[in-house]
Amino acid sequence: MYQLDEKEINIEFHKEPYESTVWDVVRMCYQMDIRNNLRTSLENRDWEQIENIFECMTHQMSFYSATYVVLPYMVELLEQVMEEGDVEHAFTLIFHLGVCLATDIPVNQYEKIDSPILEDYNAAAQKLAGLTKRYINTYIEEIHKMNQEMRSMLLVSAIAILGDRQLAYGLVLSGLELTEIGVMCGGECQFYEEEFAVLEDCEDQTVIPAEYKPGQWDGKFDQDWFAWTSALADMLGAKQELEFLCYLNGTFTCPECGKTKKMIDFMKTYFAEG
Ligand SMILES: [Zn+2]
Repeated sequence: MYQLDEKEINIEFHKEPYESTVWDVVRMCYQMDIRNNLRTSLENRDWEQIENIFECMTHQMSFYSATYVVLPYMVELLEQVMEEGDVEHAFTLIFHLGVCLATDIPVNQYEKIDSPILEDYNAAAQKLAGLTKRYINTYIEEIHKMNQEMRSMLLVSAIAILGDRQLAYGLVLSGLELTEIGVMCGGECQFYEEEFAVLEDCEDQTVIPAEYKPGQWDGKFDQDWFAWTSALADMLGAKQELEFLCYLNGTFTCPECGKTKKMIDFMKTYFAEG
């Protein structure tokens, strides 16, 4: 269970009114008329259309500036469906919102938006973190009964929402199957592989995985990404993903230049420069 302060849920933010001219300038893939699509899909609770909006907004894991104004609406919807006890749609929203946040990273060059829209967006993202913790606390039994794919989706989104968007971005682009990742050494070194087979390399002992020790997390979501993400995977009952995180925190010696680094650094370099 997460420690959850009510302050993390009671965060207030404004939603950009539909009359605002901001809607005319924010970008969305396929030139979708985001304003009208959002308005009608929320009014009708049209889940197919809501998912369609998310899919456009995270197309090819690019960042679209429409995210700044759509996210607060979707976080409000999440709060509503959680109050209604709608576990299934809360899952859908948390998953897609996490993927949206995973696209909001420096490597995705994009136009910044001015305050106060940015402040409202950030406040909505903070509230999303509180709601995600509450979802995990409340529905942990349901989560344990989910299939492996759903647990993996939830884990990756929760990683984006609770603190490491860049790691989540890498995980989504690795296809969520967590069997192959892109790796790159960087700097002067040319070592680069698009499909680095994870488990095989553990067997060959070229990658030495880190060890997970239960009960060692201090409850903070700070720089020590492995401490909180591995504790999260363990709590969700995501065994395969936990093994993958141990692998990412493991060490690997570059076959070309001989440098030894964490596997996650090879993956992050691949997505930043590859
Ligand atoms: Zn190298």
